[in-house]
Amino acid sequence: MLISIVAPCYNEEDVIARFHDAAQKIAEELLPLGHDMEFVYVDDGSGDRTLGELQRLAELDARVRYVSFSRNFGKEAALLAGLRHASGDAVIVMDADLQHPPELIHRMVELHAQGHDQVIAKRTRTGDRFTRTVTARLYYRLINRLVDVELVDGVGDFRLLSRRVVDAILDLTEYNRFSKGLFAWVGFPSTTFEYDNATRAHGSSSWNFRSLLNYGLDGLLSFNNRPLRAALHLGMALLLCTGLYTAWIVGAALINGVETPGYVTIITAVTAAAAMQMIMLGIIGEYTGRIYYEVKGRPHFLVKATNVKRTQDQAPCGSQATKDLIT
Ligand code: UDP
Ligand code: MG
Repeated sequence: MLISIVAPCYNEEDVIARFHDAAQKIAEELLPLGHDMEFVYVDDGSGDRTLGELQRLAELDARVRYVSFSRNFGKEAALLAGLRHASGDAVIVMDADLQHPPELIHRMVELHAQGHDQVIAKRTRTGDRFTRTVTARLYYRLINRLVDVELVDGVGDFRLLSRRVVDAILDLTEYNRFSKGLFAWVGFPSTTFEYDNATRAHGSSSWNFRSLLNYGLDGLLSFNNRPLRAALHLGMALLLCTGLYTAWIVGAALINGVETPGYVTIITAVTAAAAMQMIMLGIIGEYTGRIYYEVKGRPHFLVKATNVKRTQDQAPCGSQATKDLIT
């Protein structure tokens, strides 16, 4: 069996060689069991010497394939590129910063041999900041009520995928990619095992509060139009309240005559209604924005340098390969 390791790398010049050493060691251990390994590294437009490091590794080790983006397209795009360029019967997706312990590959391959198409490594939250743990918990509770697929806290991109899962993922061509959800969406027999969270080997995480918030919103909005429906429900509930309240004021005015006070009520009602409308508009805008990006149909990433030969499905339109297919 050929196993591909897919690792997105963004400014990982300090760790990538160490990562490769560790992965190579695992490859050697798997060889007697009849498993070959290839490494697909995707340089996501790093500003440091990551690409140079990858080229050096490729010269030393013929099993290394690298793809380097023309700029930073984000981890989701890097993952997609990695999956496209991986040719293995099974693909293991993992971070290049050594937070996903390479030793776990053995376990994954074993579980895959038992017939699981997706072998998912679930990290515990040891060593995480308390606030992050709590927000994550709350977030997953909320999101699982809203989206159609089941998302689990601690489950990320670290997993083994069988060839048919990889092909299924590659068939999902949407521009706004939320991998966690896509993996859950394709299904197939899956199994999960836990491992202890490791801290980053070098450098710092590229996540901050804002990017986490946006990632969370992506998760909410990528799967269905329930937030739109919720906005509609909220609007209707608000309309009902307004109707009752109006009836109450008009009734009171008819019976008692017009009372002038009411400044507080008016201001509260106006601002609350305005805020509600802004949120609803925002939700609609988010979906429209998504449609806008999908309709443009732009590629997910552009490649600046690679040692992988173009595969047929990526050949430009009108190339000989495509013509052969048509005729
Ligand atoms: N990464 C990437 N593009 C980005 C940001 C991150 O390819 O724009 C890669 C990064 O090199 C690492 C993985 O994605 O291999 C996870 O990133 P990070 O460690 O910053 O996130 P965390 O582990 O905190 O979730
Ligand atoms: Mg990390």
